[in-house]
Amino acid sequence: MELYLPFPLQTVTQGFGENDTETYARGGLKGHTTLDFDPGWGVPVPFCATGRVYSILNKDNPDPSRYRAVYQIVHDGDISYEVSYGHLDQILAKVGQMAQAGQILGTVGNTGEVYHDGAPVTNVERLSGSHAGAHLHGPQVRPCKRVRFTRPGKQYLQDGYGLYRDVAGNYYEVIDYDNGFNGCVTPSFNGRLATSAKAATETIPAAIAQISATVSHYIASRSAPPASTAT
Ligand SMILES: [Zn+2]
Repeated sequence: MELYLPFPLQTVTQGFGENDTETYARGGLKGHTTLDFDPGWGVPVPFCATGRVYSILNKDNPDPSRYRAVYQIVHDGDISYEVSYGHLDQILAKVGQMAQAGQILGTVGNTGEVYHDGAPVTNVERLSGSHAGAHLHGPQVRPCKRVRFTRPGKQYLQDGYGLYRDVAGNYYEVIDYDNGFNGCVTPSFNGRLATSAKAATETIPAAIAQISATVSHYIASRSAPPASTAT
């Protein structure tokens, strides 16, 4: 998968797997599920990969934290990836849009569960215009396989209406939902956005190989939907 950096690496404020703390443990996680970038509130966010937008969480969603995010599906051979972008303020992307890497999907915001000086930013603060805690959570990358049928005990991508099923009738089974990161893996970037550099594409295939080796070790069924994972 071609995955481009949304912003310079100097703006990264949190890495994958960092902060093995109570906050993440409460969600059943070993730590942070992707990178955070802080280029500043309101800065336009580009798609980091080319793929169809299959779900959007916007201000009308029932999530009490008003988390706003964009989710796309990127196909690469037998593996598909959910690539998502969270804590957005404005959202320009549309469900069903075939998005190209580099197109603008929205702007950096502080919606959802974000922190400033160690304390959660409240809706009251947000509604009064506070930009505290603004950052991009993502691109968050979750490998999936396309399947025709769902099975009990497995996790599938969901959109705003429940299980996501594409126009061809496929569901998307999260390959290793029990990896401690709800199936997310470390994002690996090709280079700077708007370049065609192809360095650094090795990490994700390597992660997939590792994950595939553990596929037979799936266990318990879970109730939490995988599509809205973030902090
Ligand atoms: Zn984050």
